[in-house]
Amino acid sequence: MTRVIAVANQKGGVGKTTTAINLSACLAEANQKVLVVDIDPQGNTTSGFGVEKEGLENTVYELILEECKIEECLLEKVLDNLDLIPSNINLSGAEIELIGVEEKEYILKKQVDQIKEKYDFVIIDCPPSLSMLTVNAMTTADTVLVPIQCEYYALEGLSQLLHTINLVKERLNPELEMEGVVFTMYDARTNLSLQVVENVKDNLKQTIYKTIIPRNVRLAEAPSHGVPINLYDSKSAGAESYRLLAQEVIQRGEVEE
Ligand code: ADP
Ligand code: MG
Repeated sequence: MTRVIAVANQKGGVGKTTTAINLSACLAEANQKVLVVDIDPQGNTTSGFGVEKEGLENTVYELILEECKIEECLLEKVLDNLDLIPSNINLSGAEIELIGVEEKEYILKKQVDQIKEKYDFVIIDCPPSLSMLTVNAMTTADTVLVPIQCEYYALEGLSQLLHTINLVKERLNPELEMEGVVFTMYDARTNLSLQVVENVKDNLKQTIYKTIIPRNVRLAEAPSHGVPINLYDSKSAGAESYRLLAQEVIQRGEVEE
């Protein structure tokens, strides 16, 4: 069974893209077949895999406007076991162009459903907003994975995010569940990181991944080399943590089946 996971949090800079890229790459490394869907107009997931995002003939934008077939925007074998539907700045216009389009909440789902059986995992990197694009990701997904940055305002905005997930579940995708929360950019040298983790654990009745992603400069460097962390610095703390997260994600699926 394919598991479709939307990586979402309307806050920017919390580690969504870093998690989407490196979790996907580590799942692929663990022999899972992975499709990554970039639906952020910033296209950072696309460039993070070394794909030149300008000048692509077809992207998720053309897909959503039904100007191309899914096969026509699919970049196969970006890595072993990993395909990518890329995005770029053109997607920033999609929201407006979707006004009045029938069933616009399901456009991505209809497309991804056509090919998802080929994959063990579909990982969707969401933009930093609760926009129609994020709603499309949530109607397509089975679960939502929420990265939470270990900083003072970590809980801010989380209730809106959970509310949005509930609305989508009630009205558009009854099967939608929380995948869980993953803490990112943990700094063992500060008490603050630890406090944030404890605070979120106390306040959120959600599944929390045991793996905590540390702040690791290699994770920040890798995108400029166009490769995920396991290929950029295989022995770094960042690579090790995303490998552990991938194992935990795989195991969680096995428990549920
Ligand atoms: P989002 O997609 O939520 O906006 P990003 O994944 O782009 O967040 O991360 C924001 C910034 O923080 C990026 O520059 C990224 O390289 C950096 N970053 C993310 N996670 C880590 C980490 N664990 N350690 C160090 N830097 C990180
Ligand atoms: Mg991002």
